[in-house]
Amino acid sequence: MPPGRKNSVSLILDAPAASATQTLFGLNHQQLTSLVQEFSVPEYRARQLSDALYRQWVEDLDEVSTWPKSLRESLDAAGYRVGRPRIVEAFRSVDGTERYLIASSDGQTVETVWMPEGDDGEEGDGSEAQNDFHRATICVSSQIGCAVNCQFCLTAKLGIVRNLAAGEIAGQVVSVLKRQKFEVGKQRINLVFMGMGEPFLNYDEFMAAVRLLVEEVGISESRMTVSTSGIVPGILRFAQEKTRPKLAISLNAPNDAIRSGIMPITRKWKINEVIEAVRQVPLRPKEKITFEYVLLGGVNDRVSDADEVVRLARKANLPLKVNLIVWNPGPGMDFHMSDAETVAKFQQRLRSSGIPAYIRRPRGRDIYAACGQLKRMTELTTLAQ
Ligand code: SAH
Ligand code: SF4
Repeated sequence: MPPGRKNSVSLILDAPAASATQTLFGLNHQQLTSLVQEFSVPEYRARQLSDALYRQWVEDLDEVSTWPKSLRESLDAAGYRVGRPRIVEAFRSVDGTERYLIASSDGQTVETVWMPEGDDGEEGDGSEAQNDFHRATICVSSQIGCAVNCQFCLTAKLGIVRNLAAGEIAGQVVSVLKRQKFEVGKQRINLVFMGMGEPFLNYDEFMAAVRLLVEEVGISESRMTVSTSGIVPGILRFAQEKTRPKLAISLNAPNDAIRSGIMPITRKWKINEVIEAVRQVPLRPKEKITFEYVLLGGVNDRVSDADEVVRLARKANLPLKVNLIVWNPGPGMDFHMSDAETVAKFQQRLRSSGIPAYIRRPRGRDIYAACGQLKRMTELTTLAQ
């Protein structure tokens, strides 16, 4: 055990990832089973440990009350820690949205957002019909920063710092649920993987996190949505998954020419190639693909653009809906927001052509928690916990 560990949690938080410590949060049942075998204890101890990590949300080995003290001490002495990322800062918006900085053991932070009334991203897919009064949504990050470089996105300005491990992705969810005293199974929760980063450029860890959240934490994959900027090899792998979230594609433009200007990734994979890949995903009954469309004033929000989206959607011939997102401004970005009338007209144009279209309400704009604004804004003065 490193000296001083018992006395100072913040030391662990701030310390660089020490090779001597090993993180338990993030290990799946099979990995936990092999681990307990190394300590020559029966397999049921692995189930107790995963209960503690993923259902009781313990933060320290000492809290694993089903284990004898000696076993906890053996793991501790071997350098094992729970190691779930922790909320180190929280900002609350006037609309109830909360944005958190969540720190990993190397001191790096990601951002995670809690939206108590959802973000309307689920509208139109049938799931809202259940009339749940509680439709909280957590927006989860998959990378620190992002390499994709969409011109309208604040996260892009960070560049890519590093991938998150499965435990760091699932850990955001568990840390937020614990803070909110959420009862999985009793209350309804939606997860959107739409925070910092491109999930399909961190595919293995992202999917491992999904499996942990489904199999261990107990959240249904039908309550999860992953958004991608259109990473074709990722979509093709996703199409093979048995357990998977719903899929959203950041379309953001009616054609490759406009899209290349705002999303340089289009030069690698054209809209048609993305749609062809999406077509390989076997959909569940009633499931729709979401096309996200950030409206940028004068760039992609004209009536003629809406008409082109209609043609594109018809040609795609997939069960789909369009989520229109009003662009959230940020420093250093040379775009402007579409006015309300333009947004309404765009939506109307799609709807009157039979394409379901919804406007995603901006959430937590005052604390930079809204879409594309997940960048660490330390200069931000907007309030504290
Ligand atoms: N990297 C993934 C998921 C995170 S971004 C992706 O791009 O799909 C989630 C959504 O936020 C995307 O649809 C993206 O187009 C949108 N977005 C990015 N910056 C935005 C901004 N400034 N205002 C509104 N939406 C934005
Ligand atoms: Fe990355 Fe998504 Fe932002 Fe594009 S919109 S830079 S893919 S996080």
